[in-house]
Amino acid sequence: MKIWNEAKECMSRDELSVLQGERLKKQVNYVYHNVEYYRKKMQKVGLEPGDIRGLEDLEKLPFTTKDDLRDTYPFGLFAAPQSEIVRIHASSGTTGKATVVGYTRRDIEIWSECVTRALTQCGVGKNDIVQVAYGYGLFTGGLGAHYGVENAGATVVPMSTGNTKKLITMMKDFNATAIMCTPSYLLHIAETLEESGDINNIKLHAAICGAEPWTEKMRQQIEEKLHVNCFDIYGLSEIMGPGVACDCIYHKGLHVQEDHFLPEIVSRDTLKAIPDGELGELVFTTLTKEGIPLIRYRTKDLTSIDRTPCECGRTTARIARFKGRSDDMLVLRGVNVFPSQIEAALLEMDGILPHYMIVVDRVNNLDTIEVQVEVEERFFSDEIKELEKLTKRIEGVIKTAIGLAVKVKLVEPKTLARAEGKSVHVVDNRVFD
Ligand SMILES: [Zn+2]
Repeated sequence: MKIWNEAKECMSRDELSVLQGERLKKQVNYVYHNVEYYRKKMQKVGLEPGDIRGLEDLEKLPFTTKDDLRDTYPFGLFAAPQSEIVRIHASSGTTGKATVVGYTRRDIEIWSECVTRALTQCGVGKNDIVQVAYGYGLFTGGLGAHYGVENAGATVVPMSTGNTKKLITMMKDFNATAIMCTPSYLLHIAETLEESGDINNIKLHAAICGAEPWTEKMRQQIEEKLHVNCFDIYGLSEIMGPGVACDCIYHKGLHVQEDHFLPEIVSRDTLKAIPDGELGELVFTTLTKEGIPLIRYRTKDLTSIDRTPCECGRTTARIARFKGRSDDMLVLRGVNVFPSQIEAALLEMDGILPHYMIVVDRVNNLDTIEVQVEVEERFFSDEIKELEKLTKRIEGVIKTAIGLAVKVKLVEPKTLARAEGKSVHVVDNRVFD
């Protein structure tokens, strides 16, 4: 099977380490001289660019977190002047303040190349017609995938989200051969195709899915229902967007585009490097970014790494399917949700006790969210109608806060379990193995 950039994707691990070391030195020097925030951060721990001589010095560098992006909102971590920034993307954060990222023309070119490499891994090339059904807009999914498809020379159909009927009509009429979207949406599409009896009238051979946690079982379900090869693509806007890593036909982990993004797996407790194969937090250092380079960015995603060669011929490291996150962020139907957002919304309301529980489950491949809320005794002596009214009001307030519909269940005082020490507000019954 074709490899898009053999020179970079199949180099020996030794050659790759040398390249990564060189690029790391350059990137550190670049942020030190162009981002005041980073310069101060390095000075605080007594570091100068010259102290980083290669990969062996990586651990000396301080971590970057989402808080750093929030503290410097909107453009404080940009290393390139505004005149060089050709695009902005943003994702939602805990406090409503967005995380903003900027790209130079070269950043966009590299991003496109990374997505093209991923598509090639999935057997998609210039003869394919690819429907991109990620959201287009501030979210990196739509445009990120779009540019990669064009760069591969394939035909892109920019569907975006929201109109399944039109998507299916065009899938049939255009003889679309590949689709990129969230896995839960693709299963919804598959079910709609089954119901209409059109499941055998489509020509899809590849589905490239990501942007939300999903299971190996879901991947196989998609393959069976749609008779396609289904692949897992990973990315995060802080580092680039989709295409940071992607599955290959052997499905033994996601190949990281290591000449551009340096991965580390660190212990959740000590934040020190742990051996390959062990579960820890994924950390990325960008190696070629110009717009907003990030040093040792903590993704909070939990995974393990495998640097042994893959059967597909690529030598790049592979990260395992994600096992969850090391903070309390939930990814629900592709949307990032922090329990603190729900808590803040509840606290604004009268008669609500400070006890609540978010119960997340997955029914028919869709995330369901129930928020159990303790309310004052007096509500239960009122008419049922009043209770229903309050339920609707709370559902409305939470929907405004997180942008997702939830089911609210009111419970009497002291019903919900009280945890010792750190209170537990989330029960996640979804399985991501
Ligand atoms: Zn492979």
